[in-house]
Amino acid sequence: QMENLLVSACLLGEKVRYNGSGQLVDHPFLAALIDAGRVITVCPEVDGGLPTPRPPAEIQSSGSAVRVVTINAIDVTEQFTSGANNALEVAKKEGCAFALMAARSPSCGNQQIYDGSYSGKLIEGSGITAELLQRNGIQVFNQYQLDDLEAAMTQAARAQA
Ligand code: SF4
Repeated sequence: QMENLLVSACLLGEKVRYNGSGQLVDHPFLAALIDAGRVITVCPEVDGGLPTPRPPAEIQSSGSAVRVVTINAIDVTEQFTSGANNALEVAKKEGCAFALMAARSPSCGNQQIYDGSYSGKLIEGSGITAELLQRNGIQVFNQYQLDDLEAAMTQAARAQA
């Protein structure tokens, strides 16, 4: 039995990105999970209370302090944190051991994020939600890793059978 998968709403084409767009992902494995009713959707930034469209935000870390700040210098750390906590709660409640999250987002990015200078420079790191999910044992993949996600979920389902 395949588990439920937590998915970034924008990857299902929902127009919830900061600029009001979606980024629909077309992959047979994701389509099969959707058909099977095994996809659970979150958008941490909207769930955290931010509007769409909204100013782009980046993570700024200094030492152990992590802040999320919009391009016009508004601190949105609280909304990002609240959205991340909600995503973790939903993942636990729905039994998601895996998540498919949008690459490079300050919330959902799992490997790379922008460096906080709004200059388009990427660094290694995770978004606020992806980080929290990973710290709680949920395996996070992005839309360029769907084949790997399929292999990992298929293996987990076999191990359970
Ligand atoms: Fe997509 Fe995540 Fe950004 Fe929402 S917070 S638009 S789900 S990348």
